[in-house]
Amino acid sequence: MANLSENKRCPMTKFQHCPPSLIQRYYAWKQNSLPRQAATLGRLARDGQVPDFMVISCCDSRILPTDIFEAGAGDMFVHRNIANFVPTYHAPSGDGSGDAHGTSAALEYGVCALKVAHLLVLGHAKCGGVQGCHDMCAAGQSGPEFELPLVGAWLENMRPVYNQMAADGKNIDIDEMSRRSVVQSLHNLLSFPFIADAVAGGTLSLHGAWNDFGSGTLLAYNPETDGFDPV
Ligand SMILES: [Zn+2]
Repeated sequence: MANLSENKRCPMTKFQHCPPSLIQRYYAWKQNSLPRQAATLGRLARDGQVPDFMVISCCDSRILPTDIFEAGAGDMFVHRNIANFVPTYHAPSGDGSGDAHGTSAALEYGVCALKVAHLLVLGHAKCGGVQGCHDMCAAGQSGPEFELPLVGAWLENMRPVYNQMAADGKNIDIDEMSRRSVVQSLHNLLSFPFIADAVAGGTLSLHGAWNDFGSGTLLAYNPETDGFDPV
């Protein structure tokens, strides 16, 4: 085992060795968890991944989609972005500019290459991204004017959710805005031609859920009531 007593700083490059605390965690995983997963990981390495589920989750470190669904290696194709939002489809521009984004690429790979059967948009309580979109819109700012301009530019995609709720004239509850954002993402998913085709063909189903990580509660989107029910 390497000496983990201190960070090794390399004066020759702009980059540094992995933090010892991280390496220590790896050693613990290798000792405690790897033996239980070795057969599965070996099979996945040999045969490739065939996950049934794709999940769009927030980057938030408190949200662990594979944990709350007890998913193991190979079970879930997970894409994470700020506030687990799916923007509307934009055709690739070809010059690297425009509206192409990593979420689109992940969706295309999950649906067209991996052919997942279920696609879940997972929102969560106390989402800083949703709060940020709310604050940006309430302050009348555009995305680039937001204190984090790259985050602001991304959150512009969610502005229609704020506008719709603000039009009702009530105080906007951030958790409710998060849930409506999940529903908007479900509608936006259908703007992707390959997703609309897969749904129409019966090979893909779309789902929404919302996790209150503080209490462990999971709410599932009910398409009949357009609301969320405890599961
Ligand atoms: Zn979040």
